[in-house]
Amino acid sequence: MYDIHLHNTKTRKKELFAPLDDKNVRMYVCGPTVYDRAHLGNARPVIVFDVLQRLLRHRYGAEHVKYVRNFTDVDDKINARARETGRSIAEICDETIGWFLEDMGAVGAEEPDEMPRATAYIAQMIAMIEGLIESGHAYAAEGHVLFSVESYKNYGALSGRSVDDMIAGARVEVAPYKRNPMDFVLWKPSDAETPGWESPWGYGRPGWHIECSAMAYELLGESFDIHGGGNDLMFPHHENEVAQSCCAHPEGDFAKVWLHNEMLQVEGKKMSKSLGNFFTVRDLLDQGVPGEVIRFVMLSTHYRKPMDWTEKKRKEAEATLLKWKKILYEFNASAEFAEEVNGADLHAELVHSLADDLNTSLYLTRLGQLAKSAAKGNKSDAVSLAKGMQFIEFDYDRSWEISFGTSLDRILETPEIVQQLVDELQEARSNKDFNRADALRNGLKRAGVEVRISKEGADFDFLPEFDASKLEGL
Ligand code: AMP
Ligand code: ZN
Repeated sequence: MYDIHLHNTKTRKKELFAPLDDKNVRMYVCGPTVYDRAHLGNARPVIVFDVLQRLLRHRYGAEHVKYVRNFTDVDDKINARARETGRSIAEICDETIGWFLEDMGAVGAEEPDEMPRATAYIAQMIAMIEGLIESGHAYAAEGHVLFSVESYKNYGALSGRSVDDMIAGARVEVAPYKRNPMDFVLWKPSDAETPGWESPWGYGRPGWHIECSAMAYELLGESFDIHGGGNDLMFPHHENEVAQSCCAHPEGDFAKVWLHNEMLQVEGKKMSKSLGNFFTVRDLLDQGVPGEVIRFVMLSTHYRKPMDWTEKKRKEAEATLLKWKKILYEFNASAEFAEEVNGADLHAELVHSLADDLNTSLYLTRLGQLAKSAAKGNKSDAVSLAKGMQFIEFDYDRSWEISFGTSLDRILETPEIVQQLVDELQEARSNKDFNRADALRNGLKRAGVEVRISKEGADFDFLPEFDASKLEGL
């Protein structure tokens, strides 16, 4: 048994994780609003919390973990998309959910145990709102119901803001029916063209925040272990979820631990359509970037740090995965290897890196160390490498043709020629024939072979763009 430590946004500290019930470890993560393809940033929380649920299942047993991630299928962005395209809301949501699951599956994320759609929980939202009105935490006005922020003394505690800061920083909507500009909508009226449901306050639809509170209560109870999402959601969305849930169910604490992933940027800039650096997961997959390369790049940065997606990182991830697969390819030629991997425990250092607030970049570094040792013939490290890859859904045993095109064939057929050239390079260096050594090194580089010289000798790696024909004439 080992301890897991997680950084809790609520306390701003890394804490020992102690589930309320270790036979029923419960996690809720805010999911997408379904009107369009997931962009690359959306994949970050999916991948981060997928690794966390794998760790929790490893620690507490697969059947003792319940992971819930919702789909927001009632939202003004969806309504707008339906108006623009003339398509029905149901059709747009169904199609987008299908895309989302397909794209997230392609980057190696398992499906949560429950994926509730907001529109299936309207009755529970109405019941929760009624309770909040009864207990004086909400009020109805002009077809709306608003949560009274002043009625909850801990409002702002999660994100660490005072109400004044929040008013100054947020785009609060001032409206005549609000008693306080910070009060937020639990229910609002719908017209004939907008989706709506009958309610005690007239025909209308829920606000965004109430859906997560209602679904989390219904599926996980008034207190559960972990709530996750991107840190852009901390305020107001998560702050409002806490207020609603803690006022509706004062006997509970809502989420004990809050985890927030930092944002993804592209080449150092915020991803946005106007900067022309906005792309979807599907765009990358269609360009031939393997899903596991996307996953690798995401995991190479700790979830609490801003992460930068760069072309350089993509190439490096591809080269590293290619290298590991090449090392394991040879071990995997024996029939028992897969059996050994399946029966193996996850290497203790790998476990500990994840158990330390999900240190996925350290995990990848450790895999690299195992790969080095495996390359020297250490079978037990090869098993650990393969197990560690499998644990986070890198396919060590999948044929290369599927994930990397034909590169493996090209590489496997040519190492002898490459080795000869690298040997020759070393010889030229010891004979102080630096012109010849440089020519060889540059020629190899142009062909996609990176040579590293150290005291122990010369070592080399194949880059994904490796092209044997460019070695001719060297
Ligand atoms: P949305 O559909 O915009 O509500 O976002 C769905 C999820 O993706 C939420 O958990 C967001 O916090 C997260 N998210 C959105 N943009 C980014 C980004 N650039 N980097 C990381 N996470 C993001
Ligand atoms: Zn939410």
